Amino acid sequence: MSIKYIFVTGGVVSSLGKGLTAASIGQLLEARGLKIAMLKLDPYLNVDPGTMNPFQHGEVYVTDDGAETDLDLGHYYRYTNSPLSRASNSTSGQIYESVIKKERKGEYLGKTVQVIPHVTDEIKSRILACGHQEEGIQVVLVEIGGTVGDIESLPFLEAIRQFRYERPKDCINIHLTYVPYLKAAGEVKTKPTQHSVQVLRGIGISPDLILCRCEEALSDELKAKISLFCNVPQDAVMDEKDVEHSVYEVPLDLHRQGLDETICKMLDLKSAKPDLTKWEKMLHSVLNPKGKVVVGIVGKYMDHQDAYKSIFEALHHAAVANGVALEIRKFESDRIVENGSVEALIGGCDGYLVPGGFGERGWEGKVLTAKYCRENKIPYFGICLGMQVLIVEFARHILGLENAHSTEVDRNTSYPVISMITEQKQIQNLGGTMRLGAYPCDLKKGTRAYEAYGKNLISERHRHRYEFNNEYKEAFEEKGMVFSGKLNKGQLCEISELKSHPWMVGVQFHPEFKSKPLAPHPLFLNFINALKILPKKQLEKVAPTSQGDK
Ligand code: GLN
Repeated sequence: MSIKYIFVTGGVVSSLGKGLTAASIGQLLEARGLKIAMLKLDPYLNVDPGTMNPFQHGEVYVTDDGAETDLDLGHYYRYTNSPLSRASNSTSGQIYESVIKKERKGEYLGKTVQVIPHVTDEIKSRILACGHQEEGIQVVLVEIGGTVGDIESLPFLEAIRQFRYERPKDCINIHLTYVPYLKAAGEVKTKPTQHSVQVLRGIGISPDLILCRCEEALSDELKAKISLFCNVPQDAVMDEKDVEHSVYEVPLDLHRQGLDETICKMLDLKSAKPDLTKWEKMLHSVLNPKGKVVVGIVGKYMDHQDAYKSIFEALHHAAVANGVALEIRKFESDRIVENGSVEALIGGCDGYLVPGGFGERGWEGKVLTAKYCRENKIPYFGICLGMQVLIVEFARHILGLENAHSTEVDRNTSYPVISMITEQKQIQNLGGTMRLGAYPCDLKKGTRAYEAYGKNLISERHRHRYEFNNEYKEAFEEKGMVFSGKLNKGQLCEISELKSHPWMVGVQFHPEFKSKPLAPHPLFLNFINALKILPKKQLEKVAPTSQGDK
């Protein structure tokens, strides 16, 4: 049977949750026993989001094969088991880059190179490649970034129009729109949806299904109106209302309205009724926690809700699996300064997490956080830069290496405890570029890391240039630092933890990329579990009523 394609476009406004919707559809189809693949097409001209400021674009999600991709791939990972790789995300930048490369090589045989057909052909070939990255893929879900009507997304929509024209029986288009409630008028308005569907039809694409983002469920009357004006059967107009508690409610809401059933009918896909019991059980735990843990995150982009997306999600998964509610308190690291009391600035959380980051800004605030956690025996979880901070803090205050630093910040430090691999003399010529993607790591028995994972060999994804400098390894070990994870068949230190501390662990990789609600990440599980069971010392300090209530 031929592969089926579902295109998801967005109308009216951005930030409607297209990625989440596409991921939810993917999940429902998988639950029906179908094998799916997912593709995000991004209309921007950057070749990948790797160089974009997190304030602009949020998190960069890294795949096993080392692609720096859009954060929507994180949603795909959390909701589905679809293969995720370089073939799962294409940008206009990549598409133009390959068209221009071909042109330079003379592959267009003297023709004038144009958006149609050359750019659109390149887009179509990537859609096809996504469906052939593994054997047996039955459905490819293609999400088009941006909003219909944007100049930049036109080549993508044109490519989809052609793709559909060439395979009329194998494609459907799902259009996600916004149906606002106007408070002053006391009315729900369908006009923006009508307009965005008109724009889509002007490009030659008629939606088969319309999903309406709205605050409250839509009445049958409103659905009938949208159906009539937009030329879509009424049972193919569904609402996607704001969730009450958790984004993980979305697939269940869509399933209740028959979305997966309708898609399968439209595409003539034979499949079983979905079994969603595990997901429902997980959601039940989300809604019925016993107790709460408070995690302080000390980072640089705390105001941007997507900059640490996978970290927030991974913490939530671990909290749900531990049966507790999670409160995240956000702290901007450059506001944590020596002369203020760190306790007064950030105190009161059960534990702290310092996420990844680049550049100098905020470094010292993170070092103060690590010091505060080490001295007060408060759990500390350092991810990537967060591990480098843990190392630098330990070097300065326990090993007495004054001004020890990462060469990323201080190129001339006397004690480069974190440095680029090419700067580390004993292993020269290995290249000094970013270490990206999955690397195997050996764990040491009897350590916190081993306890968490429960096995010898793990694989985690990396995205960094700097590493622990092994010249200092013995000095660190003598003072109680344990290097519990080491690059398999290599010497690089991937995990460091403090022996005489309830939970102080730094990892050079990004475990957050591999956490799912139904399969929380072992390190996050272990961290949250520690917060749950350790005495709530710091909470007692800020809540006098609980004093004596040991
Ligand atoms: N800036 C650090 C490095 O390049 C850490 C990167 C990160 O946290 N992802 O090594």
